[in-house]
Amino acid sequence: MKYCTRCMMPETRPRIVYNDQGVCNACLWAEEKKTEVDWKARWCELEELCDKYRSRNTYKFDCILPVSGGKDSSYVAYMMKEKMGMHPLCVTLKPPLEIDVGVRNLQNFINCGYDHIHITPNPQVARKIAKEAFISQGQPLHAWIISVQTAIFRSAVLLDIPFVMFGEEGETEYGGTTKLKEEACYGLEDSINIYLSGLDPRKYTSWFSEKELYWWLYPSMDEFRRLNPSIAHWSYFENWESYKHYLLAKEKLGLEETPQRCIGTYNNFAQTDTTLYDLHCYLMYLKFGFGRCSQDVGIDIRRGAMMRRQALTLVKKYDGEYPQSYIKDYLTYFDMTMKEFDAVLDHYADKNLFKKINGKWAPTFTPH
Ligand SMILES: [Zn+2]
Repeated sequence: MKYCTRCMMPETRPRIVYNDQGVCNACLWAEEKKTEVDWKARWCELEELCDKYRSRNTYKFDCILPVSGGKDSSYVAYMMKEKMGMHPLCVTLKPPLEIDVGVRNLQNFINCGYDHIHITPNPQVARKIAKEAFISQGQPLHAWIISVQTAIFRSAVLLDIPFVMFGEEGETEYGGTTKLKEEACYGLEDSINIYLSGLDPRKYTSWFSEKELYWWLYPSMDEFRRLNPSIAHWSYFENWESYKHYLLAKEKLGLEETPQRCIGTYNNFAQTDTTLYDLHCYLMYLKFGFGRCSQDVGIDIRRGAMMRRQALTLVKKYDGEYPQSYIKDYLTYFDMTMKEFDAVLDHYADKNLFKKINGKWAPTFTPH
């Protein structure tokens, strides 16, 4: 397998591109951010945008922010409230199979002085969509990921808040399409195409009524046009540095780490919302041959905090770790037997990259 010469991203990552020196698009973007992006000009754009919506009305919220209680969304909320002087409404979509530390972190964040609403879409519907997406696409987090987009827009329409600020624009940031690299705001179509991989949640209307799918469906085009919202990503306006977010959230917003390192990686402070994320990462590993650790070392290499040699050791040690301690929870959640569950993993394991040894998928490739 070919790997980026700077980070550990292999060629199997969807939409990855390497330059002549074998450097991937995420690493090139990291360099571009240091040398070419005019952050001052982008900050001015942010100020203009905030000016446009700040105190537009004496009692309504100025903007809507999806938050999880994790380092990144907490950081954005802090900056919008404290630095930009906005009055944001923070919205959390309750994830399935929550992790205690994630629940605590969200509460700690809210307690620091934020207006917040929790949306819990019908858990039975969520579970069915999650199971279907796990089986048919190998994406156990799909139901939640959809709702983090759709329910935010539903809330914006319901509460008449025409300014939505998401965190990072992940495609540009981690090596995907760079379509939105130069765009401060994006449209509904981009939201569907990029975040749902082109899947329209309307496909579930064959199972559930539109009422049941309320939080999974986008507002109608009419509602959307009437609201005419600005949809932005914080990472367009300020260099996205997760570690900086972590430090601020820890210092100012009560962020706690998990007691042990997270499964499949070496750090203990990222993606602590739901144990389904561990399954998501394990499936990513089986499908593409890179896991959570490969993602994390990329972030640390690009911020200049890790040598590639070190990263290679970590990836060999942790990538693709089987989420053993959560398997029972997964079986209960999906209402599956171990055999049915394994059959899904078997289906998605790339047989060119893995071989089954003693009932577990073992890599036939060596990261280098
Ligand atoms: Zn790279």
